[in-house]
Amino acid sequence: MEPQLPNSTGEIFSSYPAFLPLITDGETLFSWAARYHRLSGNSLAKQSSIQLFGDRRAGLRHDFPSHLQKLADITQGQIGNAETLAYERTLFGFFAPFQDVQGASNVLSQMHGKSVEKVKSALGLLPSRLGAFFPLKSCQDCIRDDLRKYSVSRWHLEHQWPSVWICRSHHRMLHALKRESQPRDLRRWLLPEDLKAEEWTGLATSSGAMKKKLVWIAELSAHIAHLRDQYFDHQLLRYAYLLRAKDRGWLFTDGSVRLAQVRQIFLKYLGGLDELPGFEMIRSVHAEHGGMLGLLMRQYDWRRHPVKHLLLIAFLFESVAEFDATYERVRQTNAQGGTDALEGMIGEVWKFELKRLVEFERRSLSGAALVLGIPLCVAIRVAKQEGIEYQKRPHVLDATLKEKIRKMIIEGLGIEEILRESEIKKTLLREFMSRDPALRDAWRMKDFERRRNNYRTNFLELIDRYRGIPVKRLRKVSGNGVSWLHRNDREWLTENLPHMKS
Ligand SMILES: [Zn+2]
Repeated sequence: MEPQLPNSTGEIFSSYPAFLPLITDGETLFSWAARYHRLSGNSLAKQSSIQLFGDRRAGLRHDFPSHLQKLADITQGQIGNAETLAYERTLFGFFAPFQDVQGASNVLSQMHGKSVEKVKSALGLLPSRLGAFFPLKSCQDCIRDDLRKYSVSRWHLEHQWPSVWICRSHHRMLHALKRESQPRDLRRWLLPEDLKAEEWTGLATSSGAMKKKLVWIAELSAHIAHLRDQYFDHQLLRYAYLLRAKDRGWLFTDGSVRLAQVRQIFLKYLGGLDELPGFEMIRSVHAEHGGMLGLLMRQYDWRRHPVKHLLLIAFLFESVAEFDATYERVRQTNAQGGTDALEGMIGEVWKFELKRLVEFERRSLSGAALVLGIPLCVAIRVAKQEGIEYQKRPHVLDATLKEKIRKMIIEGLGIEEILRESEIKKTLLREFMSRDPALRDAWRMKDFERRRNNYRTNFLELIDRYRGIPVKRLRKVSGNGVSWLHRNDREWLTENLPHMKS
């Protein structure tokens, strides 16, 4: 990190920088400029800001600085062009993937230019709300290591991201500057080593399990903040969440979220982190409507805070690769089949199945509903919504149906089974049988045999289970069927009674 002379012929007292420090890996622009200030020997903070940014305050904004184009011109691109600086050295990179192309370029042009007044509102960050204020954060071990290595400490960009509360290198909880110690008046350059212990907020050290979750959230944040020129489509993001929830068995068959169940699991997973500044939204999940969960899984404003997305992604997915693959699958499904295909993917497959059963297999709606395990009233509603053409139950029997029923009767199928298979009403079946007494008698015979066999099997099971119990007591067991056997199958009953005595 040797000071490096720019190519310009800088005069000692010019308003241009006399030298440029090298910007280090993962360092913020604010950190780099603060180091410049220290090395420059300038007595006033604004002198350094003017020399680097051409503006008295621009560089002193640690979150979203302005005048980046000017800075790139002055430094002749030695630390990167304006856009790269915004993406890789400021908080912009963290927010950008959750913007759309226009939103991102709007924020970028403000940062390139002279005023960043509207940046936070463009990002959907309301000043009055939580999440619009970004305290400077640092890892105490990183300060020590940086001092040893560079003789100066630095602000690490990834520690400044609002979703990061742990250092991935040291697994140490980050310290944030107390509100009153923040450089809010834009008159002060700060490096972590400049601050006294009492100026940091000490966060309670989390348990090992909590730390593991924080590291996972930090990894996810790093992955997403490094996506350059990639913007999430918020509808697709929602489908990615739903698809993952479906894989975990958290959706009903109609594709809606089992919110009560998911809320409990979510709170069990992230509940302990709600004390961290900016993570308070976790508590909203205690509410019956599901708070941030409900918003993300149903409909939401596209400008939801990235921290909400990151917490949800961390909760739903096991790895960065899994999240990427799921989002990609959703993106491709949408490209090929649009919303219909997406809906089909997350759980409305049964609607397609209903359509297939009714329109291609020519089943009745009630028959199809039975197959799918959904109530008939739901099937009727969906059939109307989806324009599925279904047949009302037949009121007259055609020759084919008559033959089908005749066959079932001869085979001795039960009445319920015949009704289900033929999809006719009970009255129609009764009428059909009464017109053909021979068939009716044949059915009665078969039906009798079927019932008798059931009673016999049942009885044998009963005496086996209640071995040694007198028949009088057996008659008190519900569903014993002894009376029926006594009336209709006495001979068999008598033959089988002695077994009970053994
Ligand atoms: Zn560290």
